[in-house]
Amino acid sequence: MKIVVKFGGSSLASAEQFKKVGKIIKKDEARKYVIPSAPGKRTPDDTKVTDLLYSCYGQAILEEDECEENFESLLAAIKKRYEEIISGLGLTLSLDDEFRTIRENFSKKIGRDYAASRGEYLNGIIMAAYLGYEFIDAAEVILFDAAGNFDAEKTDKLLSKRLAKTERAVIPGFYGSMPGGKIKTFSRGGSDITGSIVSKAVHADLYENWTDVSGFLIADPRIVRKPKSIDVITYRELRELSYMGATVLHEDAIFPVRKEGIPINIRNTNSPEDKGTLIVEGTCRKPRFVITGIAGKKDFASITVEKAMMNSEVGFCKKVLEVFDGNDISIEHMPSGIDTMTIFVHQDEFEEKEQKVIAGIHRAVEPDFLELESDLALIAVVGRGMRATRGTSGRIFSALAHANVNVKMIDQGSSELNIIIGVRNHDFETAVNAIYDIFVNTMI
Ligand code: ASP
Repeated sequence: MKIVVKFGGSSLASAEQFKKVGKIIKKDEARKYVIPSAPGKRTPDDTKVTDLLYSCYGQAILEEDECEENFESLLAAIKKRYEEIISGLGLTLSLDDEFRTIRENFSKKIGRDYAASRGEYLNGIIMAAYLGYEFIDAAEVILFDAAGNFDAEKTDKLLSKRLAKTERAVIPGFYGSMPGGKIKTFSRGGSDITGSIVSKAVHADLYENWTDVSGFLIADPRIVRKPKSIDVITYRELRELSYMGATVLHEDAIFPVRKEGIPINIRNTNSPEDKGTLIVEGTCRKPRFVITGIAGKKDFASITVEKAMMNSEVGFCKKVLEVFDGNDISIEHMPSGIDTMTIFVHQDEFEEKEQKVIAGIHRAVEPDFLELESDLALIAVVGRGMRATRGTSGRIFSALAHANVNVKMIDQGSSELNIIIGVRNHDFETAVNAIYDIFVNTMI
């Protein structure tokens, strides 16, 4: 049995947190490959080491007379964070040489990605020393091409060969290297991706992603009071929910493990006995509730185009969509009726181009009627259980009616995995609570 474990920044923010992580790893000897993030926030108003590194590098590339003091104090603050962890763990490890190299490279203006990557790199060195595992620099095994895109094939080959010879290792998250050795990072939160890539390369049985929450919650806790957690979620459900704003895991982290059918388990370092959320390709386990999760976003505008007999006019939709394309506006959602189609777009993106779009649509399809609405929110109700349950949309409608929420739009995806509901911005929180109530609270 092989488990890859990734620990997020808050799980590694201090020596205390490192100790919890050490205990977790030692508890199951299948936890063989460890992916650390950089030290995160210790308190809500603390600064993540990655952010300190970005600022420090920002100072390093300024003209010398402008930056000196700030640069020095930032670098000292970063070094102190690591030294506190090292001494708190009782290790005899010195990072002096590493910091000398970092200082030199910063002064050569070696690159922003290199700067940010040092957070994970140094944490990896400490973690390896603490656990007695081998340290493998991600620059040697995670490869990007010359254009800076992740090279999945080359990496997989190299990494699986390298790890076949390594019983236990620490591989820092978030970065790799391009041909010629230049360091390149993934986007923010990218250690999740490294964990997934390593899981695929070693054909892990499980990818554990340890963070500071006990998995995904059915709804956003800032909207619903103490929402229940999700035990099992499929990759497709997760995709729907994260698209609508639910975030715990980096979206690109799903792809490598999904290809191999490796489940991901989101766990809580501060509450390791919680089972967390298991993300799987498919499951015959019955979901606890009809819905798996609710997520949503505010601030959309809608443009409704009406024209009699539009359904028989070949290329009608295409012509309308080309107007948005031509104005570089991305479309979020597009429900349609027999003689109408409605296009949902992000309000801030649309507002300044509004008149151009209206004129464009008039020119393209000569509609009978055009209607604009703003300050709309979209809510996605997602669940594999909805397919086998009759009356789901009926229940949503009646719950919203009871809560006095006017439904502007409802659209069921053809997979029957999601129902999208459009409401006014000011009804958003009430609507989410009403839907949560009807599917979760009334079922307990
Ligand atoms: N340390 C990086 C960040 O703050 C990457 C990560 O934590 O996954 O975004």
